[in-house]
Amino acid sequence: MNLQTGIPHSARIYDYILGGKDNYPADRAAAASIVEDWPNLPTSMRANRKFMARMAHHLAAEHGIRQFLDIGTGLPTSPNLHEVVQAVAPESRVVYVDNDPIVLVHARALLTSTPEGRTGYLDADFRDSDAILESGRLRDYLDLDRPVALSLIAILHFIVDDAEVRRIINRLMEPLAPGSILALSTTTLDNNPEVVAAGVAAYNAHGIPTVARTKSEVETFFNGLEILDPGVVPVHHWHPDQEAAALDDAQVTIHGGIAVKN
Ligand code: SAH
Repeated sequence: MNLQTGIPHSARIYDYILGGKDNYPADRAAAASIVEDWPNLPTSMRANRKFMARMAHHLAAEHGIRQFLDIGTGLPTSPNLHEVVQAVAPESRVVYVDNDPIVLVHARALLTSTPEGRTGYLDADFRDSDAILESGRLRDYLDLDRPVALSLIAILHFIVDDAEVRRIINRLMEPLAPGSILALSTTTLDNNPEVVAAGVAAYNAHGIPTVARTKSEVETFFNGLEILDPGVVPVHHWHPDQEAAALDDAQVTIHGGIAVKN
């Protein structure tokens, strides 16, 4: 397996900025240079990770969701999604998907589970939605006749073509039962356009294609679904706890939301 440790990777840059250890000098150098252009990025990333945990808890506790397909999982960072949902409902099943070889290497740390639940990992590309849907592992872990939450947290800004994102989301949601959920977060220009534009340019300069979108562009990803309260909002405004509520709008440059398939 080639980890290409000399080239910065999005998962390892994120891990480094979140305070993780699964990163290399090239990732740390790229992170330092990107943060020069995008000083609020660490705050935004932490707010995103906390949004993931609140979203997962909300889906398990308020919507009774017991099955999760999380694509663009990233390196293990406490708490991981399965830990959040299995704390609410131990029988919860989670399939993680990522295409980064370093995430695959560390997947074993993710693959803990309550005895009643299951946690699986699939090494696949989001863009290859058919391979994900047809994978035996997915079918072994998830019952598609019952609701599934598809979570796409901080991955869509790495797929720069909006039409492609819509096509893939439609394909992934198609076989899911009514009551299934789409949850996502992705970088926005809205709160701090100049800084985000410079930061996105820095990611691209480091060889990582990245895009920032407006709220209305993000809303098109939920086409055909019913967006749930409070809509597509900066992640710290999404069912905030005290810590999220205290964050400054200019600091958080990522939008999130959830929607249900009726
Ligand atoms: N969802 C986690 C991690 C976000 S970092 C969180 O929000 O905390 C983005 C992750 O998306 C990285 O792990 C990266 O490897 C993964 N990723 C980027 N493009 C991908 C693709 N085309 N297919 C699958 N995973 C992808």
